[in-house]
Amino acid sequence: VEQKQQMIRKAGILEMVPISESLEDIGGLENLKEWMRKKSVILRDMSRAREFGVELPKGVLIAGVPGCGKSLNAKASAQLFEVPLLKLDMGRLMGKYVGESEANLRQAIALAEAIAPCVLWVDELEKAFAGIGGDGGGAEVTTRLFGQFLTWMQEKRSAVFVVATANDVMKLPPELMRKGRFDEIFYVRLPTVEERKKIFEIHIKKRRRQDYKGIDISKLVEKTTGYSGADIEGVVKDGIESAYVAGKDKVSTEDILKAIKETH
Ligand code: ATP
Repeated sequence: VEQKQQMIRKAGILEMVPISESLEDIGGLENLKEWMRKKSVILRDMSRAREFGVELPKGVLIAGVPGCGKSLNAKASAQLFEVPLLKLDMGRLMGKYVGESEANLRQAIALAEAIAPCVLWVDELEKAFAGIGGDGGGAEVTTRLFGQFLTWMQEKRSAVFVVATANDVMKLPPELMRKGRFDEIFYVRLPTVEERKKIFEIHIKKRRRQDYKGIDISKLVEKTTGYSGADIEGVVKDGIESAYVAGKDKVSTEDILKAIKETH
């Protein structure tokens, strides 16, 4: 792992992300989690799966509302598959010389394949490929990069599992969505009542396990319609902070309710 990390650091295009999250840290998104679990059976023992005639999974595209667990999922998937997580930063890929960006992408792909099995996380995919098909030098480069990426996704035989995340699918070119590129596309929405319950539980237990029993979660859930997972985490943090500053020895439902009230 150390050697792989050094390779990545030297090249400077990919980033090795430390993983601390697991599927248990995600509230809701049951279909996505179930799908990931199925893929992990294949990825954890690839040679047996191959022998059986199973094709290696290519990857998943997760689109939807910001702050609802897309990045969290990318991290948890690497943990689940027990492989390193590499993040591809499209901004870093762009070079100022002719052909440099393409060479960088080629290098990033080669690096990921050398390190495989791994998860390659492409964050904010729609931003990476913004301006495709447009006029001007910049657009031409992104169009070429995009073509290169698609071809790789299509022909990929290596154990690089791509997790791409996007906020706005409407901005993504339709070629990307057709079957054969990603195994599946998931859309993540704002959490439902049940999911909010679970998210509150995760974040309260993470920080104040001892206070969880005394907190009336259903009251919190009732007041947080339209909140994203990140918003819920935010009010939990704020509630705990203000309880601490006020010199209390435990966090109550009221502390978090107050934080919710102060959220706009
Ligand atoms: P963006 O598109 O802005 O990057 P995202 O969908 O990738 O947003 P995350 O980074 O996954 O959002 O979520 C931000 C934080 O909110 C997470 O670190 C996590 O703590 C919390 N969070 C979001 N969704 C959930 C969830 N379903 N369960 C538990 N925590 C969540």
